[in-house]
Amino acid sequence: MPVAAPSAQQLVDRFGRVHTKLRVSVTDRCNLRCFYCMPAENVAFLPKPELLSYEEIERVVRVAASLGVTNIRLTGGEPLVRRDLPALVARLSTIPNLSLGMTTNGILLGDLAQPLYDAGLRSLNVSLDALDPVKFREVTRRDGYERVLAGIEAAQRVGFQSIKINAVAIRGLTEDQLVPFGHFARESGCEARFIEYMPLDADHAWEREKVLFADEIIDALSASIQPLVPLDGDGHSPATEYAFADGVGRIGIIASVSRPFCANCNRFRLTSDGKARACLFSHDETDLRSVLRSDGTDEQLADALLACVAGKWEGHEINTARFLYPDRPMYSIGG
Ligand code: SAM
Ligand code: SF4
Repeated sequence: MPVAAPSAQQLVDRFGRVHTKLRVSVTDRCNLRCFYCMPAENVAFLPKPELLSYEEIERVVRVAASLGVTNIRLTGGEPLVRRDLPALVARLSTIPNLSLGMTTNGILLGDLAQPLYDAGLRSLNVSLDALDPVKFREVTRRDGYERVLAGIEAAQRVGFQSIKINAVAIRGLTEDQLVPFGHFARESGCEARFIEYMPLDADHAWEREKVLFADEIIDALSASIQPLVPLDGDGHSPATEYAFADGVGRIGIIASVSRPFCANCNRFRLTSDGKARACLFSHDETDLRSVLRSDGTDEQLADALLACVAGKWEGHEINTARFLYPDRPMYSIGG
């Protein structure tokens, strides 16, 4: 395994944003079919040889770390459907000064929580849009609600601290889930994070009218449970965080539509087929796989990553008439 030398270079773009967080997608496959992400049927998945191997992913992450990346989040598709994911976590956990997290739908977490923890994973976001099996099925078009709850419990048991529950907030569908999630956050110790629905669905059925906005979520929780008090953040988290006034239970809001945080964005992405993307909504990608598979050097990989970030645009255009869907939906980019 080539070792990337430490470098004084930083992943900085034209707007001075220094990038320290990399989302790494390990697959575009998934065991759910959430309507805001995937088509219901006939999904064309990438052929397996096109996916980066664990060795290739490790190499990209080592080079990224040498350029100042300190935070890796594994994602997908559903990361836990990729065979032996703990083996990748174990590889990445040998890289110094790197914090390792994962976003998962939790279906397979019951059995994998322990091996993932043992391999060095420490931060966990579990996606769950409803605290109700019928509504869960409506969103995901699959069964599995109880398995996700069992997965969260297993993760707590094996020692994961500060598990965050990601719930996409959708008008006309999940308003009645806000208060139950508020109580869940207070009782479980997990932060409940509401994500405004974004135009990243494969069916291109997103409409602004379907977005349940941050202000409405805060008002509903404050009126029904306790006033929500904003917490100081690091200025780079996509989530604005709140605590209930009595100190019990934390809520996060990712308001990508109503309060875009592009000006402070410090993250970029690696797709499962080895393309670097500066933004979820980018219209271009930087091909790292061709560098990896043509005996490219670490310097060439570093140059490709630096160029990708340097070319980042100022921000997404969801709120303008210019908005164009990216070429890939969420499951294929890696959320
Ligand atoms: N399968 C894993 C999961 O669901 O956690 C990881 C990948 S998923 C694409 C990552 C996150 O993106 C999930 O929390 C999911 O709810 C969110 N997501 C997917 N499509 C979205 C959309 N159109 N708008 C907002 N969030 C979305
Ligand atoms: Fe699968 Fe996650 Fe997309 Fe749902 S959001 S379909 S769980 S990749």
